[in-house]
Amino acid sequence: MNDFEKLADLLFPDIDKTPADYEDIYPLRNLSEGAKVTRFAPSPTGYMHIGNLFSCLIDRLAAATEDSVFFLRIEDTDKKREVHDAIDKILSGLAAFGISPTEGATGKDSEKGAYGPYKQSLRKDIYQCFAKDLVKKGFAYPCFCTEEEISALREAQEKSGDNPGYYGKFAACRNLTLSEQEEKIKAGLPYTVRLRSDGDESRRIVVEDLIKGKIEMPENIQDIVLLKTDGIPTYHFAHAVDDHLMRTTHVVRGDEWISSLPVHIQLFKLLGYKAPKFAHISPIMKLDNGNKRKLSKRKDPEASVSFYAEQGYPADGVVEYLMTLANSNFEDWRKANPTLDKYAFPFSFKKMSTSGALFDILKLNDICKNIISLMSADTVYENTVNWAKDNDEELYNLFTKDEAFAKGILAIDRDVPKPRKDIVNWSGVKEYVSYFYNELFAPAYALPENINKEDAVKIIEAYKTSYDVNDEKDVWFNKIKELCEPLGFTPNVKEYKKTPELFKGHVGDVSTVIRVALTDRTNTPDLCSIMKLLGTQEIMKRFDSFTAAMKG
Ligand code: GLU
Repeated sequence: MNDFEKLADLLFPDIDKTPADYEDIYPLRNLSEGAKVTRFAPSPTGYMHIGNLFSCLIDRLAAATEDSVFFLRIEDTDKKREVHDAIDKILSGLAAFGISPTEGATGKDSEKGAYGPYKQSLRKDIYQCFAKDLVKKGFAYPCFCTEEEISALREAQEKSGDNPGYYGKFAACRNLTLSEQEEKIKAGLPYTVRLRSDGDESRRIVVEDLIKGKIEMPENIQDIVLLKTDGIPTYHFAHAVDDHLMRTTHVVRGDEWISSLPVHIQLFKLLGYKAPKFAHISPIMKLDNGNKRKLSKRKDPEASVSFYAEQGYPADGVVEYLMTLANSNFEDWRKANPTLDKYAFPFSFKKMSTSGALFDILKLNDICKNIISLMSADTVYENTVNWAKDNDEELYNLFTKDEAFAKGILAIDRDVPKPRKDIVNWSGVKEYVSYFYNELFAPAYALPENINKEDAVKIIEAYKTSYDVNDEKDVWFNKIKELCEPLGFTPNVKEYKKTPELFKGHVGDVSTVIRVALTDRTNTPDLCSIMKLLGTQEIMKRFDSFTAAMKG
C-alpha cells in the first residue's frame, strides 16, 4: 500500500465500494442513435426563475426521441438555502407547464428510475467513494486550513498582487506528509477534501459548446474543494460524479457555469470519464430604458415562474412563448403547423441566442390572447374558475353562482372564424366581464365627443320603446337604424362621410350611446348578444340609470 492508499483508507474507512462497483450498478443506458439523456438539476431554494423553466424546456426539447431520457435531479447540497416544500413546488411548477420528467424525483421522498437516488443529499456515500478513489490516485488530499487561514491567504495575495486562491505554492496542505495528515485527522481537526490540480495556466481546454461554439480557456490550477468539512460535495464535484453515473449525454445549464468549465473538464479527466456535451444557455434579457440587462429576481416580477400562475397566464402560452425565445423560427413553424404538438418542433441548439434572448411581455400577451381566443367558452370558464379559486374570491363567487350566465358571456363572439382577442390571462377575465355584474359595474359614462347629453337621452328614450329582447340580430340592428332619422342622425355611414354637416352623427354613434349606457364601454363584443344575456329588466334599469346620470 502506498501513502496515497493509506491516506484514502484513513479518510474514508467506511467506504468499501469502488468506482467500478458503481459502473455495474449504473450501467450504460441502452439508447438508440440520436437519443439523448438530459437533466434538470435545480436547487430546492423555493424560487424558480423563468430562466430555470426555460432551461428545463430546452432539456425536454433536446430529449426529443422516444427513448431519450430527461430526468430531474435535486441539487440539495446547500442545506442553508433549502426551503422545506421546494421539491413539491418544483414538481407542481413543472406540471403546471405540462413538463414531466421521464425519470428522477417525483416528490419530497419519492422518485422513479434506475439511476437514483436523484437527490444529492442521499448520495453522500457515492461522492465519498469517488473522492476516496481520487485520494488513492494522488489527485485529492485533505486540507485542514481554517476559514481564517483561507481569508488571511486571500489578503496576503491581494497585497502581493498574486492571483487569489488555493493553488501551487499557496496550497499549504498540498504537501503534508502522511504522518502529518494522520496526526491532524486523529486529533479530530475538520478538513475539506481538495483536488490536487494538475492544471497548467499556459495550456488551454477546448470545449465545443452546442450553443456558444468553441470555448477555449486556460486550464484550472486551483485546488478546488471537492468535499466540504461535513463530507458534502461541492456543485463541481457532485455534478461530475452524477452526470457520469446517471449517464447524462447533454448538460444544459446557465452560462454562469462557463467560468467553471476548466474545473469540470479536469474533473471528468481525473475521474477517468468522458465529459458530456455542454450547452450553456445565455440568460433571458430585458430592455430597461434602452439598455439590455438580465431579467432580475429582485427587480422584475416576471422573472419568477410564480408570476405567471398568479396572473393566470395559460401555461401553454408561456411555454409557446419560451419556444420562440429558444428558436426564433418556432413562430413560422407554429404558423405552418398550428395543431401539431410543440414537441414535434425540430429544436436546434445551434439556433439559440448566444447573447441572450430578449423577454417581451407584449409578445407573450399576444400569444396568450391567441391561445385563449381559440379555446371553447367551457375551457375558458374552467380555467378562470380554477385560477379564481386561489386568486380572486369575488370572481370565483360570481362565476360559480351562475355558471350558465358566465359561460354565456364567454361564448359571445367565440367559435367564429376570427374570434376576438380580448383575454390575455385569467386575471384579465374579471375586467372583460365586469359590466355583466352589478357588483362590478360602476359606470362613468364617457360619451363619444360628437354626442351631447340631451341627444343621448333622446336616443335611449326612443330606443326603450322599441327594444324587444327576442329580436334577432338583423331586426335588432334595424330598430337602431330606425332611431336615426327622427333624431337627426343618419343610418347610412357613407352618406354621413360625404355630408357630415347635415347630421348629428350616424348609426354607429347611436349604437355607441346604447353600448355606453349598458356597458360603459365604446368597444365590446356583439351588443345584441350582450343585451340578450342582460335581459329586459336589467337593460331597462340601466337605461334609466343612464338617463338619470345624463340629466343630473
Ligand atoms: N443546481 C445548479 C443550479 O441550480 C444546476 C446547474 C446544472 O444544471 O448543472 O444552478
